[in-house]
Order: sequence, then structure tokens, then C-alpha cells
Amino acid sequence: MKPTKLIIGTFLGCFSFCVYFVQAQEGNQILDGIGETGMISRYILDGDAKDWSRNTLHARIYGSNIKFDESEPFEKVLTLSAENQNYVSIPGEAVEGEESLSISTWVNLKSTEKNQVLFDFGKDGRNHFYLDASGQFHLIKDGQEIYTSQDSHKAIQKDEWTHLALVFDAPSKSIFTYLNGEPIGKIEKVEVELDDLFTHENKLYVGRSIPTADSYLNASIHDFRLYRIPLSEDQIAVIRENALKRNATVAKREKPKDDLPQFDPSVPQLYNQYLVGVSDVEVETTVGVLPRLPRYVLGDYKDGIDGPKVRVQWPAPTNNDEVAQIGTYEVIGKVPGTNFQPKVKVTVIETLALSTPNRSLEVFPLEQVSLNMDAHGHQTKFIENRDKFINTLANTNPDSFLYMFRNAFGQEQPDGAIPLGVWDSQETKLRGHATGHYLTALAQAYASTGYDNTLQSNFKQKMDYMVEVLHQLSRLSGRPTKEGGKSIADPTAVPPGPGKSTFDSDLSENGIRTDYWNWGEGFISAYPPDQFIMLEYGATYGTQPTQIWAPYYTLHKLLAGLMDIYEITGNQKALEIAEGMGNWVYARLNLLPTETLIQMWNTYIAGEFGGMNEAMARLNRITGEPNFLKVAQLFDNIKMFFGDAEHSHGLASNVDTFRGLHANQHIPQILGSLEIYRDSNAPEYYQIADNFWYKARNDYMYSIGGVAGARNPTNAECFVAQPGTLYENGLSSGGQNETCATYNMLKLTKNLFLFDHRTEFMDYYERGLYNHILASVAEDSPANTYHVPLRPGSIKRFGNADMTGFTCCNGTALESSTKLQNSIYFKSLDNNELYVNLFVPSTLEWKEKGITVEQKTAFPKEDHTQLVIGGKGKFDLKVRVPDWASKGVVVKVNGKEEKIETSAGSYISLNRKWKNGDVVDIKMPFQFHLDPIMDQQNIASLFYGPILLVAQEEEARTDWRKITLEANDLGKTIQGDPSTLEFTIDGITFKPFYETYGRHSVYLDVTLK
Ligand SMILES: [Zn+2]
Repeated sequence: MKPTKLIIGTFLGCFSFCVYFVQAQEGNQILDGIGETGMISRYILDGDAKDWSRNTLHARIYGSNIKFDESEPFEKVLTLSAENQNYVSIPGEAVEGEESLSISTWVNLKSTEKNQVLFDFGKDGRNHFYLDASGQFHLIKDGQEIYTSQDSHKAIQKDEWTHLALVFDAPSKSIFTYLNGEPIGKIEKVEVELDDLFTHENKLYVGRSIPTADSYLNASIHDFRLYRIPLSEDQIAVIRENALKRNATVAKREKPKDDLPQFDPSVPQLYNQYLVGVSDVEVETTVGVLPRLPRYVLGDYKDGIDGPKVRVQWPAPTNNDEVAQIGTYEVIGKVPGTNFQPKVKVTVIETLALSTPNRSLEVFPLEQVSLNMDAHGHQTKFIENRDKFINTLANTNPDSFLYMFRNAFGQEQPDGAIPLGVWDSQETKLRGHATGHYLTALAQAYASTGYDNTLQSNFKQKMDYMVEVLHQLSRLSGRPTKEGGKSIADPTAVPPGPGKSTFDSDLSENGIRTDYWNWGEGFISAYPPDQFIMLEYGATYGTQPTQIWAPYYTLHKLLAGLMDIYEITGNQKALEIAEGMGNWVYARLNLLPTETLIQMWNTYIAGEFGGMNEAMARLNRITGEPNFLKVAQLFDNIKMFFGDAEHSHGLASNVDTFRGLHANQHIPQILGSLEIYRDSNAPEYYQIADNFWYKARNDYMYSIGGVAGARNPTNAECFVAQPGTLYENGLSSGGQNETCATYNMLKLTKNLFLFDHRTEFMDYYERGLYNHILASVAEDSPANTYHVPLRPGSIKRFGNADMTGFTCCNGTALESSTKLQNSIYFKSLDNNELYVNLFVPSTLEWKEKGITVEQKTAFPKEDHTQLVIGGKGKFDLKVRVPDWASKGVVVKVNGKEEKIETSAGSYISLNRKWKNGDVVDIKMPFQFHLDPIMDQQNIASLFYGPILLVAQEEEARTDWRKITLEANDLGKTIQGDPSTLEFTIDGITFKPFYETYGRHSVYLDVTLK
């Protein structure tokens, strides 16, 4: 069956394509101008109580004679009858851990009886809030009604559709109610938080009260929605208007509504107020390739201020027209808050053969590096987080992770098998994604637990069992169930399911197809092949049976996990499964026209393929099968990589083609590009990765190392719409810093370092590792973050403590915390160089050299580390001098100071014949320094050495915490103890972000004096 050709027309020419998405794919991603990351769940109630959002928090309707009626201006609506004791119950976990909450719904009252309850949410009858049938809000805590909104005198009319909204706004400590888009109630200075009212198991009732079992509602209900963000009045008005279809063309994207405090753009902030001049720059580039402009230039400061380099904002072209020919041209930049206009003179020279580096370094296998207690015998954050994950992982049941695979293949479940929840539940179209992460985590945990035989054999058993079952299932696909039976072995000939005329993504108990003998040989997945096939035909992301989630994303996790197991344990069956599915994918994709592939990989979320290109290139490297490298390249995101089908520009030409795009959809594609370079040597794939990294690091990074979180486009998972505008377009109220995205940035960074040993890679790695990854785990369990919000007075929210329900980030967290030791040391391929990149208490066993290196330190609670060499041999010991080590580094070998030039952002090199017992001491004094947001310099984070220090907040806030520091000596007014990393400024406590579990301010409004 050949896929139809798709009409792509304007799609190819449209570059700022998040804008395009908003208009063309209005729907699941951005509904009524609000990104899906802000939505918890949505019940349209037009025939069932299914959750329309991706979170599949399906509700249930209770009572007898459940009725759906036709009612203008809507189609079908749910009618609740008190007599029949009807009500809707939403899963209690829907609101767990949420900080703010908005509820929007339509109601049509059939009676005006007093004490009817529209909805009632809480953990029990003593702690809850409800909206009564007059639109009045009531909040009950410990059995006492402590907040009631004023009587609006705008009673809800009977037999009329009324739009109601309730907003629980944590930052402003306010509760608002709206009737038909107009505010009718406002309670300020609310001292109750949602945490006081909700727990894990809540009662979320629509149409009945929690404490009073006999009060039911007589009304029709339509489109009940829960949001995790405090909706604004405008947003509520838009939701209402769109429902009434007064506005036929839905909400074109406007400026973000969830504004941050504004500052006068003409007022120079932070060090810029002392600026008297900035230097101009000259750069060279080749024809067709945009120059890499320095994001920082030298500045001259007055008043003896020793200021940092000056951040410049340069124009960011969307193509490479200005470098079309040999010559020179000038680019003019701006310095935020000033009139300075630094210039770059660009000289365009003729194109030379691209020279890109060869890979010369290798990581050490996980089993050769072990984490130790610190130099004073104390637990480290690394061991603490590792153990939370390892110990919980050891208690997981593999049958839960196999559940949906067996379900897809119509197999019996073993006794006691319980399915996972969240994104792996029965009807979730991403099911199986956690299984891939699980395989990787098991492999890594196995490799990392050489210190404990019981744990190690536990992980080995789990791995072997998982692979055995997946292998059996994959061997079923495309083969007859009994000898002589019918089957379809050809992956390109898979028909629609039995009794169906088209492909669909119905995964419900009764709707799922399980005719695995028709699926082509080698197929393995936790769902039937339909989603893969539907994507070829242009299916979009969504929850309808005609829509899909991200089939290749899920597959990437699985293939990566299988290859990890193969590489760590040599399990041949794991490799066979990966090869079988690799061949299946090759067979299908190889038939598709390029324009279909471009369309597929540029479909929001549906075309998200994780690092399929990386996985297939890796499979080629392992097996030597050239088709796998070929199929890796079929995953090229041609628009992002090369601009268009003619390869006119794109990231290969240093054009920023990822602005506004979904961050975690695209970072793994870049990882794949680098992997293809490794396996093909085609230089453009290296350029893509290297150019991307520089831009992501410099134009999109928050101070914790995360890169996602846009207000514009309105999607907390996207890069901001224009480079270098985090304040203008970022810091979305739905959260920032999707944790997966940082996981993938670190992986990309590590892989780039293998080719190019620039310290800036490992400086970034250190930043993201300490300040995001280590900071993403709960205090007393392996629960972990999705977004890490950085608005004032935010709080981290952790999920999946017991590893039973995974989002994407819960999945990557399994991987992050089982390989925390993987980037401390690197070696050169010829085993002549040892790189010490991170200062973590650990022991390295360098097998090829017969050398051990024990690193003794309490870093970052002290500013020095010691390396003790075991064994003897000649090698060049290279130690990173971090970018924050502005006071230089002192190195002693066996107690004697080395006379070597060290400068921040370089490697010191100690090349000698090392003897058993040699000791290297490295001291790198910490300094306080600020990391401002590029386009709003006064909003900055405070660092001490590599460690982000954050203000510990008592309560939520709407404004940035203000602090004043001495311009020439930031530490002068900071008190505290470096050995605990706890400090105070103006009486406010500052702690490392990785030790912060309460409310925090990562960004501060800093004044220098
Ligand atoms: Zn994620």
C-alpha cells in the first residue's frame, strides 16, 4: 500500500513555523490561545466523560439513567439529574501537586433550588472548596468555612447556558470567580494553599457536594476544564467567546497575557549602568554560512568598576542571504537598556572544504567509575539521588513495564501484573515509552552497582526477563499463529485491523487490534502498527482515534534501551529485537517521498521521533548494516538541518531554524545528527550539532541550564519565539525547563566534547548537572520534576515517587540518576590523556592503563579537590579550569606547587610518568557572580562558584525579590558559610537550588551600588 502524496504547499516556505502551527494546528496544542502544557484535563461531556487532553484523566459519571441531550449552541451535553443522583467524578490525582488551578465550564440550570453544588473539590468533607448554584465560592478548611466570595447579585439564570470560571491564583494569593466572562467575585490575601486542600486521593465532584451526600445538581453541563495556570480575565473571555463561535477564526496568537513585571527598556541595568563603551568585533565566515557572532564583547566601565563582558543582542536572520557572496558587511547589535551599538565587521570568504574534528575522546564505561562519600565521610547529593532511584528501581515489577506490550499482542497477563498509569495507561497513545527508559535504567543500574551483588543480580534478572518477553513478542509479529496459517511478513503490506476499513489509534480494551500476524516481521511496540502508518498519511497529534501521539518517540526509547542492554551485557536477543524493528522501519520509510518525510518530521508532536536518527545510526555502528545508516538519514529534520529540500541553509549554515519550536522534540534530533557524523563523517552533520549547541546555550538558556519555557509561543515546552529574548518571551507561567530537555542537552554536550575539548562544553554540563538534574529530585523519594518553574516564589513539583506512572521527564529521570558518574572523567582514544572534568568524590579504574584515580573532595562544599593516583604509567592529566574560576587555580603535585599558567575556561595539562601514590591537589577559589537574563540584565541569578544560590521564600510572589549588592565586590554584603553553602542577604536565606524543596526565587531583581 503506497501512501498518498501530501500537499505541502506553503508549509515549506514558512519559516517561523510555530506561528504556522498556531494557525494551522489550532486544537490540541494551543486551545483558545492557551498552550496544552497549561491544561490538566478537559471533559467535553458530549457522550462520555473522557479526558480530551493528553493526560487521559478520564472521569466517570455516576447515578442512574445517564443522559446526553442536544442543546444549542452546543451539540450534545450531559444532563445531570438530582433524582437519578448523577454526578461526575474526576480522578483525584488530577490536581495533586498543583500550585494554581483554574476551572472553566458551561452550565444550564434546570432548577433554582438553593444549596445545589456545581462542583466541589477537596481531599475530604472538612477540606474542600465549592461553587454553589448562584456562582458563590466557598472554601472550607478543617471543617470551618473561612472564605466566601461576596454575593454577586448576578444569579445564574435557569434554562440558560452560563459560562463559569474559578481561578485559584497562587502567586497573587487570590481567588477569582467569573460569570459569562465577567468577574463576579474576588478574594484577596488568601492564606490557604492548594496543598492544604488536596492530597493524592481527592474527591473532585461535578454536580454534587463532598460532605452532603444527598445534594445533587439538576443541570446540563458542557466542556468542563481544569488548568494548572491561573487564567487571566482575557483568557476566560476568549474561552467563552470561542465556545459561542462569535469569533470564527480562533484566537490568533497575541502577546503573552501572563506578563512579568515590566522595566523601562531605556534604563541600563546591572553593570550596564557603568558602561562607557563597547568594543567592535571582526569575524570571518565562508560563503553561505552565517558567522558565529560573539554574544559577549569587551566593555569599558566607569568608576573603576571591573565589569564583565557585555551581552549583545544581534539580529537573527532566518536565512543565509547576507552571506551569499564574497565580500564584507556590517552587523549592528544592541546592548539592553543602552544606546550602545556594537558592530561586527563580517568578512565572507570563499567556501573551503569544511574541516570538522574527529572524535578523539571516549567516556569510561559506567562500571569503571564509582561514586564515593565525600572527603569528610559525608553523603553526597550524587549518592543520595542515585540511591533513591536504584533502591526504588530494584523494587519495580517488570510485568508492569511489559503490560501494554502483552496487551498489544493480545497475550495473557501474568498473575499480579498491574499496568503503569499516566502516559502508559490503556488508552494513552504513548504507552510503552516508560519501558524504553526502564531498559536503559536497568542496564545502567546494573553497570553502576558493582558495589552490591544483590542489587546487581536483581537488575540482571529484570533485564533478562524483559528482553526474553519482548523477544518472544517480536517473533510473533508477521508470522502465522499456526503452521500453514495466514500472515503478512512484509512491513509495507500491513492492512487495517480486522473488520476496520482504515487505520486507527483506538487502544481501548474493546477497540484495540491484536492481529499481530498481520503486522510485518520484526515489529515490536506497546501498540499496533497503526500510529506509525497514520503518521505517513498525515495524522496529527491528538486524542481522537484518527489522531496519534508520537510513535517514533516511543520507539526510540525502546531501541535505545535494547542497545544499552546489548552493549552493557552482550544480550544478543536484545540486539535481535532492535534489528528486527530497525528493518521494519527501514522497509516503510524507504518507500516514502522526501516531501512526505519533511511533512512527517515537522508535524507537531506526532512527528516527534526522539533520537530515532541516533538510534538507527548506532544500530548501524553495532551491526555494520548500511540500511540502518540510510534510515537514520531518512529521519533528517530537513527544514531544521538544511532549511529546505534543496539544502539552502538551515542549522548546517548556522541559521537559527529552531526558534519557537518544541525543545525536547528537537534536541534529540541534534544528538542524532552528531551520531550520524560519527558514523558517516559527513561534516554538515557536525556543523548542525555544533551550531545548535552554541545557540541553545547562549540564546535560550535559563540559569539552571534548562532551555525550554516560552510565553511566546504559548507553550512551556517550546523555545522562545526569537533568540535571546527569554525575558520578553520566556518564563511562561505554565513552567519552564522541561527536565527531559536538559537531560538531552547534557547528553549532546558530552557527545560534542568527545570531538572538541572546549571547556565551555563541560562548564555547561556542570551547570545543568548541579543546578537542574541534581535539583530535580524530591527530598525523600525518587519523585522528580517535569518543568522547573523559575518565576518569583515558585516551587518545584515532583511526581512518580513509586515508579508507577511516567511522563517523559519521569522516564528520563530514571536514566539521569542511574548514570550520574558518567562525565567525571574522559580518556583519549589512544589512552594517553585523562580528562578530569567534574569534581565529584569518585574512583576511576582506568583498565587499559592499570591506573586508578581516587578523587577526594567535598566539592562544592569546599573549593578544592585531590586526585590520588594508583598504579604507574605515563599520561597527560588534564584538569578543567572552569569558567567561574576567575581567581585562577593553584595546582600542587605531591605538595609542590606547579608553575603553570591557568586561565578560566581552559585545561591545565600535567604530562608525566605517574607513580603509585602521586597526589595532585587543585584549588579553585569560588567567587560570587551573577548570571543575568540576556534581555533584562537586572533579573539575574546568583552563583557561588558553580552553584546556583536561590532565595528561600516563605510564600508565593508576583514580583521579583529585590537585592542590592556592591558592584565591585558582590560578596561584601553576603554573609554565610561556604562549607554549608548557606548564605544570607538582607536577612533572607540563600541555599543551593539542589537543596531547595520549598518556595524559591532563582531570579532576583538585582541593583548594584
Ligand atoms: Zn519531559
